[in-house]
Amino acid sequence: MTQSSGDLKICVVGAGVIGLSTALRLCQEIQNVKVTILADKFLSDTTSDGAAGLWEPYKLGSTPEHLVNSWAEETFLHFRRIYDSSECGPAGISQVPCASLYSKEGYAPPSWRHIPGDFRRMTRAELQRHSTVSGKQYVAGHTFTTLFCEGSLYLPWLTRQLLSCGMLMQGRQLSSLTDLHGEGGHVIRVRAPWIQSAYFEDDEFYVLPNHDTVVLGGTGHIGDSNLEPRQKDRDHIWQGVLRLLPSLAKATVEREWEMLCEQ
Ligand SMILES: Cc1cc2nc3c(=O)[nH]c(=O)nc-3n(C[C@H](O)[C@H](O)[C@H](O)COP(=O)(O)OP(=O)(O)OC[C@H]3O[C@@H](n4cnc5c(N)ncnc54)[C@H](O)[C@@H]3O)c2cc1C
Repeated sequence: MTQSSGDLKICVVGAGVIGLSTALRLCQEIQNVKVTILADKFLSDTTSDGAAGLWEPYKLGSTPEHLVNSWAEETFLHFRRIYDSSECGPAGISQVPCASLYSKEGYAPPSWRHIPGDFRRMTRAELQRHSTVSGKQYVAGHTFTTLFCEGSLYLPWLTRQLLSCGMLMQGRQLSSLTDLHGEGGHVIRVRAPWIQSAYFEDDEFYVLPNHDTVVLGGTGHIGDSNLEPRQKDRDHIWQGVLRLLPSLAKATVEREWEMLCEQ
Protein backbone atom coordinates (compact mmCIF):
# COMPACT_ATOMS: atom_id res chain seq x y z
CA MET A 1 0.00 0.00 0.00
CA THR A 2 1.50 3.43 -0.91
CA GLN A 3 0.30 7.01 -0.54
CA SER A 4 1.16 9.71 -3.08
CA SER A 5 -0.08 13.28 -3.69
CA GLY A 6 -2.83 12.78 -1.14
CA ASP A 7 -4.33 9.81 -3.02
CA LEU A 8 -3.96 6.27 -1.79
CA LYS A 9 -2.62 3.69 -4.28
CA ILE A 10 -3.26 0.03 -3.55
CA CYS A 11 -2.18 -2.99 -5.54
CA VAL A 12 -4.30 -6.13 -5.15
CA VAL A 13 -2.62 -9.34 -6.34
CA GLY A 14 -5.04 -11.81 -7.93
CA ALA A 15 -8.12 -11.40 -10.11
CA GLY A 16 -10.18 -14.31 -8.80
CA VAL A 17 -13.22 -13.81 -6.60
CA ILE A 18 -11.04 -12.89 -3.60
CA GLY A 19 -8.93 -10.28 -5.42
CA LEU A 20 -11.88 -8.65 -7.21
CA SER A 21 -14.06 -8.59 -4.07
CA THR A 22 -11.21 -7.09 -2.04
CA ALA A 23 -10.56 -4.45 -4.69
CA LEU A 24 -14.23 -3.51 -4.89
CA ARG A 25 -14.52 -3.21 -1.12
CA LEU A 26 -11.46 -0.93 -1.08
CA CYS A 27 -13.01 1.27 -3.79
CA GLN A 28 -16.26 1.46 -1.83
CA GLU A 29 -14.64 2.18 1.54
CA ILE A 30 -11.81 4.60 0.66
CA GLN A 31 -12.32 7.90 -1.10
CA ASN A 32 -10.05 8.67 -4.07
CA VAL A 33 -8.30 5.32 -3.83
CA LYS A 34 -6.49 4.09 -6.97
CA VAL A 35 -6.66 0.30 -7.10
CA THR A 36 -4.54 -1.74 -9.49
CA ILE A 37 -5.20 -5.45 -9.87
CA LEU A 38 -2.12 -7.41 -10.78
CA ALA A 39 -2.59 -11.00 -11.94
CA ASP A 40 -1.40 -13.42 -14.58
CA LYS A 41 -4.91 -14.87 -15.08
CA PHE A 42 -8.22 -13.10 -15.48
CA LEU A 43 -11.89 -14.11 -15.78
CA SER A 44 -12.32 -17.53 -17.44
CA ASP A 45 -8.70 -18.55 -16.76
CA THR A 46 -9.15 -18.39 -12.97
CA THR A 47 -10.26 -21.18 -10.63
CA SER A 48 -13.05 -18.87 -9.44
CA ASP A 49 -14.61 -18.96 -12.91
CA GLY A 50 -14.60 -22.76 -13.08
CA ALA A 51 -16.00 -23.48 -9.60
CA ALA A 52 -19.75 -24.05 -9.36
CA GLY A 53 -19.95 -21.39 -6.64
CA LEU A 54 -22.01 -23.37 -4.15
CA TRP A 55 -22.45 -21.84 -0.70
CA GLU A 56 -21.63 -24.53 1.86
CA PRO A 57 -18.75 -24.46 4.36
CA TYR A 58 -16.60 -27.36 3.15
CA LYS A 59 -13.00 -28.65 3.50
CA LEU A 60 -12.40 -26.36 6.45
CA GLY A 61 -9.01 -27.60 7.62
CA SER A 62 -8.10 -26.20 11.01
CA THR A 63 -10.05 -22.94 10.71
CA PRO A 64 -11.82 -22.38 14.06
CA GLU A 65 -15.55 -23.12 13.94
CA HIS A 66 -16.60 -19.67 15.15
CA LEU A 67 -14.68 -18.04 12.28
CA VAL A 68 -16.09 -20.47 9.70
CA ASN A 69 -19.60 -19.73 10.91
CA SER A 70 -19.24 -15.97 11.03
CA TRP A 71 -17.60 -15.76 7.56
CA ALA A 72 -20.11 -18.24 6.15
CA GLU A 73 -23.03 -16.26 7.54
CA GLU A 74 -21.68 -12.95 6.24
CA THR A 75 -21.18 -14.51 2.80
CA PHE A 76 -24.65 -16.08 2.78
CA LEU A 77 -26.27 -12.77 3.74
CA HIS A 78 -24.21 -10.94 1.09
CA PHE A 79 -25.43 -13.33 -1.64
CA ARG A 80 -28.99 -13.22 -0.26
CA ARG A 81 -29.01 -9.40 -0.51
CA ILE A 82 -27.94 -9.63 -4.16
CA TYR A 83 -30.44 -12.46 -4.79
CA ASP A 84 -33.25 -10.25 -3.43
CA SER A 85 -32.21 -7.32 -5.65
CA SER A 86 -32.48 -6.53 -9.36
CA GLU A 87 -28.75 -7.41 -9.69
CA CYS A 88 -29.44 -11.10 -9.02
CA GLY A 89 -29.38 -12.21 -12.69
CA PRO A 90 -26.38 -10.14 -13.85
CA ALA A 91 -24.38 -11.17 -10.76
CA GLY A 92 -25.07 -14.89 -11.33
CA ILE A 93 -26.72 -15.65 -7.99
CA SER A 94 -29.26 -18.46 -7.83
CA GLN A 95 -31.17 -20.29 -5.12
CA VAL A 96 -31.09 -24.09 -5.24
CA PRO A 97 -32.26 -26.94 -2.99
CA CYS A 98 -29.32 -29.06 -1.80
CA ALA A 99 -29.26 -32.65 -0.50
CA SER A 100 -26.25 -34.26 1.23
CA LEU A 101 -26.34 -38.03 1.63
CA TYR A 102 -24.16 -40.18 3.91
CA SER A 103 -23.70 -43.94 3.72
CA LYS A 104 -21.29 -44.17 6.67
CA GLU A 105 -22.16 -44.13 10.37
CA GLY A 106 -21.10 -41.18 12.53
CA TYR A 107 -23.05 -38.37 10.85
CA ALA A 108 -23.12 -35.14 12.85
CA PRO A 109 -25.19 -32.14 11.69
CA PRO A 110 -22.89 -29.29 10.58
CA SER A 111 -22.24 -26.37 12.93
CA TRP A 112 -23.44 -23.86 10.30
CA ARG A 113 -26.94 -25.37 10.05
CA HIS A 114 -28.63 -22.30 11.52
CA ILE A 115 -27.49 -20.08 8.61
CA PRO A 116 -29.65 -21.10 5.62
CA GLY A 117 -32.87 -20.96 7.69
CA ASP A 118 -34.48 -24.18 6.40
CA PHE A 119 -31.86 -26.83 7.24
CA ARG A 120 -33.38 -30.18 8.29
CA ARG A 121 -32.42 -33.84 8.62
CA MET A 122 -33.86 -36.03 5.87
CA THR A 123 -36.67 -38.37 6.78
CA ARG A 124 -36.26 -42.15 6.60
CA ALA A 125 -38.57 -42.15 3.55
CA GLU A 126 -36.37 -39.62 1.72
CA LEU A 127 -33.21 -41.59 2.49
CA GLN A 128 -34.92 -44.78 1.32
CA ARG A 129 -35.90 -43.16 -1.99
CA HIS A 130 -32.32 -42.04 -2.70
CA SER A 131 -30.98 -45.45 -1.58
CA THR A 132 -33.35 -47.21 -3.99
CA VAL A 133 -32.18 -45.04 -6.91
CA SER A 134 -28.44 -45.30 -6.27
CA GLY A 135 -28.25 -48.80 -4.78
CA LYS A 136 -26.19 -47.42 -1.90
CA GLN A 137 -27.67 -47.55 1.64
CA TYR A 138 -27.79 -44.03 3.07
CA VAL A 139 -27.97 -43.84 6.86
CA ALA A 140 -28.22 -40.06 7.22
CA GLY A 141 -28.69 -36.94 5.20
CA HIS A 142 -29.74 -33.34 5.35
CA THR A 143 -31.33 -30.81 3.06
CA PHE A 144 -31.40 -27.01 2.91
CA THR A 145 -31.76 -24.23 0.36
CA THR A 146 -28.43 -22.84 -0.70
CA LEU A 147 -27.26 -19.98 -2.89
CA PHE A 148 -24.91 -20.28 -5.83
CA CYS A 149 -22.58 -17.50 -6.93
CA GLU A 150 -21.55 -18.47 -10.43
CA GLY A 151 -18.03 -17.21 -11.14
CA SER A 152 -18.47 -16.91 -14.90
CA LEU A 153 -21.12 -14.22 -14.21
CA TYR A 154 -20.00 -12.87 -10.83
CA LEU A 155 -16.41 -12.05 -11.90
CA PRO A 156 -17.52 -9.94 -14.93
CA TRP A 157 -20.14 -8.28 -12.65
CA LEU A 158 -17.45 -7.31 -10.12
CA THR A 159 -15.10 -6.25 -12.94
CA ARG A 160 -17.73 -3.91 -14.46
CA GLN A 161 -18.14 -2.15 -11.10
CA LEU A 162 -14.38 -1.94 -10.63
CA LEU A 163 -13.84 -0.45 -14.08
CA SER A 164 -16.45 2.20 -13.36
CA CYS A 165 -14.48 3.04 -10.16
CA GLY A 166 -11.38 3.61 -12.33
CA MET A 167 -9.59 0.39 -11.44
CA LEU A 168 -6.49 -0.50 -13.48
CA MET A 169 -5.58 -4.05 -14.48
CA GLN A 170 -2.10 -5.34 -15.07
CA GLY A 171 -1.36 -8.78 -16.49
CA ARG A 172 1.87 -10.02 -14.92
CA GLN A 173 3.19 -12.97 -12.96
CA LEU A 174 4.86 -12.32 -9.61
CA SER A 175 7.74 -14.72 -9.02
CA SER A 176 7.61 -14.54 -5.22
CA LEU A 177 4.14 -16.09 -5.06
CA THR A 178 4.96 -19.09 -7.20
CA ASP A 179 5.80 -21.46 -4.38
CA LEU A 180 2.20 -22.18 -3.45
CA HIS A 181 0.60 -25.43 -2.38
CA GLY A 182 -2.67 -26.26 -3.95
CA GLU A 183 -5.53 -28.65 -4.08
CA GLY A 184 -6.69 -29.66 -7.52
CA GLY A 185 -10.06 -30.88 -8.59
CA HIS A 186 -11.40 -32.46 -11.74
CA VAL A 187 -14.59 -30.77 -12.90
CA ILE A 188 -16.98 -31.75 -15.65
CA ARG A 189 -19.61 -29.29 -16.87
CA VAL A 190 -22.58 -30.91 -18.59
CA ARG A 191 -25.83 -29.73 -20.08
CA ALA A 192 -28.67 -31.33 -18.08
CA PRO A 193 -31.42 -28.72 -17.58
CA TRP A 194 -33.65 -31.20 -15.75
CA ILE A 195 -31.26 -31.20 -12.76
CA GLN A 196 -32.39 -28.34 -10.51
CA SER A 197 -31.20 -29.48 -7.09
CA ALA A 198 -27.67 -29.84 -5.72
CA TYR A 199 -26.54 -33.24 -4.41
CA PHE A 200 -23.60 -34.43 -2.32
CA GLU A 201 -22.76 -38.02 -1.52
CA ASP A 202 -20.45 -38.83 1.40
CA ASP A 203 -18.69 -35.46 0.90
CA GLU A 204 -17.10 -37.04 -2.15
CA PHE A 205 -19.29 -36.73 -5.23
CA TYR A 206 -21.30 -33.66 -6.11
CA VAL A 207 -23.81 -32.48 -8.72
CA LEU A 208 -24.26 -28.70 -8.71
CA PRO A 209 -26.64 -26.90 -11.07
CA ASN A 210 -25.52 -23.50 -12.44
CA HIS A 211 -27.52 -21.30 -14.83
CA ASP A 212 -26.83 -23.17 -18.10
CA THR A 213 -24.76 -26.14 -17.05
CA VAL A 214 -24.41 -28.62 -14.20
CA VAL A 215 -21.05 -29.12 -12.47
CA LEU A 216 -20.06 -32.71 -11.69
CA GLY A 217 -17.14 -33.32 -9.40
CA GLY A 218 -15.61 -35.56 -6.89
CA THR A 219 -11.86 -35.67 -6.63
CA GLY A 220 -9.39 -33.56 -4.70
CA HIS A 221 -5.63 -34.07 -4.90
CA ILE A 222 -4.11 -32.26 -1.93
CA GLY A 223 -0.63 -31.02 -2.72
CA ASP A 224 -1.00 -32.11 -6.32
CA SER A 225 -0.81 -29.22 -8.76
CA ASN A 226 -0.82 -31.28 -11.95
CA LEU A 227 -3.48 -29.62 -14.12
CA GLU A 228 -3.68 -32.26 -16.86
CA PRO A 229 -7.19 -33.85 -16.99
CA ARG A 230 -6.87 -37.50 -15.94
CA GLN A 231 -8.94 -40.42 -17.24
CA LYS A 232 -9.13 -42.08 -13.80
CA ASP A 233 -10.62 -38.93 -12.23
CA ARG A 234 -13.11 -38.63 -15.08
CA ASP A 235 -14.18 -42.30 -14.71
CA HIS A 236 -14.40 -41.98 -10.92
CA ILE A 237 -16.69 -38.93 -11.13
CA TRP A 238 -18.96 -40.45 -13.77
CA GLN A 239 -19.27 -43.68 -11.79
CA GLY A 240 -20.29 -41.78 -8.63
CA VAL A 241 -22.71 -39.28 -10.14
CA LEU A 242 -24.43 -41.80 -12.41
CA ARG A 243 -25.13 -44.01 -9.42
CA LEU A 244 -26.58 -41.00 -7.58
CA LEU A 245 -28.58 -39.62 -10.51
CA PRO A 246 -28.96 -42.12 -13.38
CA SER A 247 -30.63 -39.42 -15.56
CA LEU A 248 -27.16 -37.85 -16.03
CA ALA A 249 -26.46 -40.60 -18.56
CA LYS A 250 -28.28 -38.38 -21.10
CA ALA A 251 -26.28 -35.24 -20.25
CA THR A 252 -23.92 -33.78 -22.86
CA VAL A 253 -20.44 -32.68 -21.79
CA GLU A 254 -19.73 -28.97 -22.33
CA ARG A 255 -16.31 -28.57 -20.73
CA GLU A 256 -13.92 -30.52 -18.57
CA TRP A 257 -10.76 -29.50 -16.76
CA GLU A 258 -8.49 -29.77 -13.73
CA MET A 259 -8.48 -26.69 -11.51
CA LEU A 260 -6.11 -25.63 -8.81
CA CYS A 261 -7.25 -24.01 -5.59
CA GLU A 262 -4.24 -22.28 -4.00
CA GLN A 263 -3.97 -22.55 -0.21
C1 LIG B 1 -12.72 -28.27 -8.34
C2 LIG B 1 -13.06 -27.09 -7.46
C3 LIG B 1 -14.40 -26.80 -7.20
C4 LIG B 1 -14.73 -25.76 -6.34
N1 LIG B 1 -16.05 -25.49 -6.07
C5 LIG B 1 -16.37 -24.50 -5.20
C6 LIG B 1 -17.73 -24.20 -4.90
O1 LIG B 1 -18.67 -24.82 -5.41
N2 LIG B 1 -18.00 -23.21 -4.00
C7 LIG B 1 -16.99 -22.49 -3.41
O2 LIG B 1 -17.27 -21.60 -2.59
N3 LIG B 1 -15.69 -22.73 -3.71
C8 LIG B 1 -15.37 -23.72 -4.59
N4 LIG B 1 -14.05 -23.96 -4.87
C9 LIG B 1 -13.03 -23.13 -4.23
C10 LIG B 1 -13.00 -21.77 -4.95
O3 LIG B 1 -12.91 -21.96 -6.35
C11 LIG B 1 -11.81 -20.99 -4.46
O4 LIG B 1 -11.81 -20.91 -3.05
C12 LIG B 1 -11.81 -19.58 -5.03
O5 LIG B 1 -12.00 -19.58 -6.44
C13 LIG B 1 -10.52 -18.91 -4.65
O6 LIG B 1 -10.54 -17.64 -5.23
P1 LIG B 1 -9.21 -16.82 -5.38
O7 LIG B 1 -9.59 -15.47 -5.87
O8 LIG B 1 -8.43 -16.91 -4.09
O9 LIG B 1 -8.33 -17.68 -6.41
P2 LIG B 1 -8.32 -17.85 -8.03
O10 LIG B 1 -9.66 -17.78 -8.64
O11 LIG B 1 -7.47 -19.06 -8.25
O12 LIG B 1 -7.52 -16.58 -8.48
C14 LIG B 1 -6.15 -16.45 -8.16
C15 LIG B 1 -5.65 -15.19 -8.84
O13 LIG B 1 -4.33 -14.93 -8.39
C16 LIG B 1 -3.48 -14.76 -9.53
N5 LIG B 1 -2.12 -15.23 -9.19
C17 LIG B 1 -1.76 -16.33 -8.48
N6 LIG B 1 -0.42 -16.40 -8.41
C18 LIG B 1 0.07 -15.32 -9.07
C19 LIG B 1 1.38 -14.85 -9.36
N7 LIG B 1 2.45 -15.48 -8.92
N8 LIG B 1 1.51 -13.70 -10.07
C20 LIG B 1 0.41 -13.03 -10.52
N9 LIG B 1 -0.85 -13.45 -10.29
C21 LIG B 1 -1.02 -14.57 -9.58
C22 LIG B 1 -4.11 -15.63 -10.61
O14 LIG B 1 -3.68 -15.23 -11.89
C23 LIG B 1 -5.59 -15.33 -10.37
O15 LIG B 1 -5.96 -14.12 -10.97
C24 LIG B 1 -13.69 -24.98 -5.76
C25 LIG B 1 -12.36 -25.22 -6.09
C26 LIG B 1 -12.02 -26.26 -6.93
C27 LIG B 1 -10.57 -26.50 -7.29
